[in-house]
Amino acid sequence: MFNASLKQLSTQLAEKKISSVELTKAFLQRIEARNTEYNAFITVNEELSLAQAQVADQMIAAGQASQLTGIPIAQKDIFCAKGWLTTCGSKMLSNFVSPYDANVIERFNQIGAVNIGKTNMDEFAMGSSNETSYYGPVRNPWDVEAVPGGSSGGSASAVAARLAPAATGTDTGGSIRQPAALCGISGIKPTYGLVSRYGMIAFASSLDQGGPMAKSAEDLALMLGVMTGFDARDSTSLQRETEDYTRDLEKPLSGLRIGLPKEYFAKGMSKDVECAVEQALDEYRKLGAEMVEVSLPNSQLSIPVYYVLAPAEASSNLSRFDGVRYGHRAKSYGDLNDMYRKSRAEGFGAEVKRRILIGTYVLSHGYYDAYYIKAQKVRRLITQDFVDAFKQCDIMMGPTSPTVAFNIGEKSSDPIQMYLSDIYTSAASLAGLPGMSIPIGFGDKNRPVGLHIIGNYFTEAKMLNVAHQYQLVTDWHQRSPV
Ligand code: GLN
Repeated sequence: MFNASLKQLSTQLAEKKISSVELTKAFLQRIEARNTEYNAFITVNEELSLAQAQVADQMIAAGQASQLTGIPIAQKDIFCAKGWLTTCGSKMLSNFVSPYDANVIERFNQIGAVNIGKTNMDEFAMGSSNETSYYGPVRNPWDVEAVPGGSSGGSASAVAARLAPAATGTDTGGSIRQPAALCGISGIKPTYGLVSRYGMIAFASSLDQGGPMAKSAEDLALMLGVMTGFDARDSTSLQRETEDYTRDLEKPLSGLRIGLPKEYFAKGMSKDVECAVEQALDEYRKLGAEMVEVSLPNSQLSIPVYYVLAPAEASSNLSRFDGVRYGHRAKSYGDLNDMYRKSRAEGFGAEVKRRILIGTYVLSHGYYDAYYIKAQKVRRLITQDFVDAFKQCDIMMGPTSPTVAFNIGEKSSDPIQMYLSDIYTSAASLAGLPGMSIPIGFGDKNRPVGLHIIGNYFTEAKMLNVAHQYQLVTDWHQRSPV
């Protein structure tokens, strides 16, 4: 049951072989038994989960079920969920019980999915290793000495350890794809604007995008169908026809042109990762795809550009939390200012403070043009590179992460090394393009390797097709560490 696909679970529920309450209890017990080892969940609430499971069973009995009705889904603790503690991995929100649902949560509730718990994450989604969480580091189920990646590390760890059939994540510069790669699972960050950011606590609003994390591409397709759709409460939400993301899964890949950005294969990637990527590309050749060399000349600037723009947006977003926590007690403006300062000093961890410092600096008078405006211009060039390259190919591939999972503590004192974890993922984020990671084998110390698949705008169905066809002929996605 713990290894079952979403489709299999759905069939078992429909055929009444198991009820949602039974399924939910089974996963809650598994979390209870194993979460201390992985620290993948911040909050588990049996009462709330079982109440949802009961509603799901009624929907199934009444013939109102859709495919994910009654299935437990782990929710990243960045999504506000009514009645649930919603911390975003921060002390700042450690007593915040959300009075409302994020759009993503609403969508899962509407179809009768069960929230099985809120997953651990880097504080305010800032990190690549899940070590910045106020709730302590998450461990990688393949090796508890290793990080799970971040910032959606709790979700990745939970799915890999089979503590949940699937989970949600968010990705600003790589936070769905990198932890998916490091934990040996599948994850997709959709085109910017497809998933509403309403109630999804902001990190960098022009980059943040929610998406699913699961065992397989087929599971991702079902999850994505629930998560996407127009929402007037998010001003960047896109108004588009609803899509069935499973529609192209079975299409053969013959004639598919896979672009290999030469900059992603040049240097930086470790030998074991390179080896697994080459083998995966061979598999795609066998499936009838042809490889085309493409170039993304400005992509080497994506990390510096990202670390100007993301902190700039974050520093503006985060100032609101000071207001939430202390603002109402202020008697004067000076008073308020003191409170803000105190709140920042006490409420945020070191990485968040570093980002606020960078963000405030690049937005300040005298530096704004040199850093912020300059970064916006380079962002445009990075985007244009993709537009040009997609004239020669249908999809792009490369490594998701330059290395397999590193050890807890290995990079936490070296921000630059940590930031370089997203060297392959941040360019697609800056361009607003969809990106995905699927498991393709194991590297050093038997730790998982992920393949990065970048699609053109709105080609999620094609990307899922490309991933699914690979998963039909390989079994990496079915391996589990426990
Ligand atoms: N690792 C990157 C950062 O620390 C990206 C995080 C994310 O995508 N949320 O900002």
